Amino acid sequence: MKKPFVTKEQLEKIIQNYPTPFYLYDERGIRENARKLKEAFAWNPGFKEYFAVKATPNPSILKIMKEEGFGLDCSSLTELMLAERTGFHNHEIFFSSNNTPEEEYILANRMNALINLDDISHIPFLKQLIGSFPETMCIRYNPGGIFQLGKSREDVQVMDTPQDSKFGMTKEQVLSAISILQKEGVKHFGIHAFLASNTLSDEYYPALAGILFTLAKEIKKQTNCHISFINLSGGIGIPYKPEDRENDIFAIGNGVRKAYESILVPEAMDDVSIFLESGRYMTGPYGCLVTKVIHEKNTYRHYIGVDANACNLLRPAMYGAYHHITVAGKEDAPLDHEYDVVGSLCENNDKFAWNRPLPEIDIGDILIIHDTGAHGFSMGYNYNGRLRCAELLLCEDGTIRQIRRRETPEDYFATII
Ligand SMILES: *Cc1c(COP(=O)(O)O)cnc(C)c1O
Repeated sequence: MKKPFVTKEQLEKIIQNYPTPFYLYDERGIRENARKLKEAFAWNPGFKEYFAVKATPNPSILKIMKEEGFGLDCSSLTELMLAERTGFHNHEIFFSSNNTPEEEYILANRMNALINLDDISHIPFLKQLIGSFPETMCIRYNPGGIFQLGKSREDVQVMDTPQDSKFGMTKEQVLSAISILQKEGVKHFGIHAFLASNTLSDEYYPALAGILFTLAKEIKKQTNCHISFINLSGGIGIPYKPEDRENDIFAIGNGVRKAYESILVPEAMDDVSIFLESGRYMTGPYGCLVTKVIHEKNTYRHYIGVDANACNLLRPAMYGAYHHITVAGKEDAPLDHEYDVVGSLCENNDKFAWNRPLPEIDIGDILIIHDTGAHGFSMGYNYNGRLRCAELLLCEDGTIRQIRRRETPEDYFATII
């Protein structure tokens, strides 16, 4: 059973000051998890997690990451600005973008962020913008083909298709890019790849590490360049469904260590740092969307209408993503009803659940939509003139802090000329 990190009593108090819907984040959960991650990779002296800003782009959350010793992974102009304004500097910022506009490269370079090149054509593009290259550059690799973990067809743990992914360079391009950049004076290199998203296997990072370490070894042999880091990017998943297994971050860290010791150490490449750009794993389970039931409707299906909608949380509408729902105060009630939980958008995919077994719901009930701490608020939009909701932080001392106010109609009209 999935247990929310707040109770009905706590929520009723919060709602007196902050009307639903809102996002609520759990500072304690975020910090405890962050410390586990650090411990799992403590064997690597240069280890650094660059939290993926796009997961939860709120300065108060980013500051927690900074206090835990992490950097930020940015991929756009405003994410870079957010990092700078939150107090991140230089190599505390990783810039992993693609199809990158000029102004973003210029800002990333001015901020002395670590720049990850998504394509070989970006070398001349970047040169013409910034003149000379920084001493350290990262290259994004795409091995193509199909990436699959699991012994048999029945036992596939992770599957994705890098061959259809727009990101990264082929192996030949990676090798050429490094040779070109060496001639341009670049001294240290990083290799980056993101092959699968939301993985629920402790084997994903070790397998990816194996691929990247082997590539790094080959690059070093062919170009004699210095590889200073390997960035395993994001992709560690979280158990959205009650029956999903939880990743064991210590098994993951150990698996990467084994690959490191068997592939890199014998090549005297034992100064390579491991970087991550984890997003979902860092904040996903430690955030929820809180919404109130405002209508019930019975036609060909049973509908529960809530005051949040897909503009607040797009994942279910966009990819049918499962988010567990708890009815506050009815945690132990039998799941003897089946509902579609819907918002108010004029789109029939504006649903948080389809035929979901839930306890009997009454108007006025508070629903907790779980695991929305990453890629939740940040995917919000304004369709139907719907406004973004507030973000609140449940601090370690039990107090509530509003870390983003909800939008008002004035915000909506502010850009109209
Ligand atoms: C989205 C993204 C991440 C974070 O991914 P998660 O699945 O949230 O861990 C990291 N790096 C890059 C380049 C990304 O696009």
